Amino acid sequence: MKRSDRIVGVVILIALMLTIVSWIVMHRTRGAVAVVRVNDKVVATVDLTSLEPQTLHITGVLGPLVIVADGKGSIRVAEATCPDQICVHTIPARSPGDQVICVPNHMVITVEGKGTGIDALAQ
Ligand SMILES: [Zn+2]
Repeated sequence: MKRSDRIVGVVILIALMLTIVSWIVMHRTRGAVAVVRVNDKVVATVDLTSLEPQTLHITGVLGPLVIVADGKGSIRVAEATCPDQICVHTIPARSPGDQVICVPNHMVITVEGKGTGIDALAQ
């Protein structure tokens, strides 16, 4: 293999990687709706495309939870009665497939959407 062939090969490889990375970034869409479940039962759905901040008060297995949608497309647990507080410290969910889980409360927030996000691609 000639040296120039190798350089062309590397350039093509870099261009291909840049194309893939930009495609992933462009297609990582916001979720359309967040579904809140307790014990596998849907207790609330939140429209994440809404620009209005929303606060939900739901009841988990251990006690009340306060869930906040910030009006910018993400949703998180603001307050919970669980001892570990892992759900409160979980990063907000915003893309299809993202989840915030409170194991002690049997509570799961799942972001669902029609977008072809990278998470949808991986499934
Ligand atoms: Zn929790």
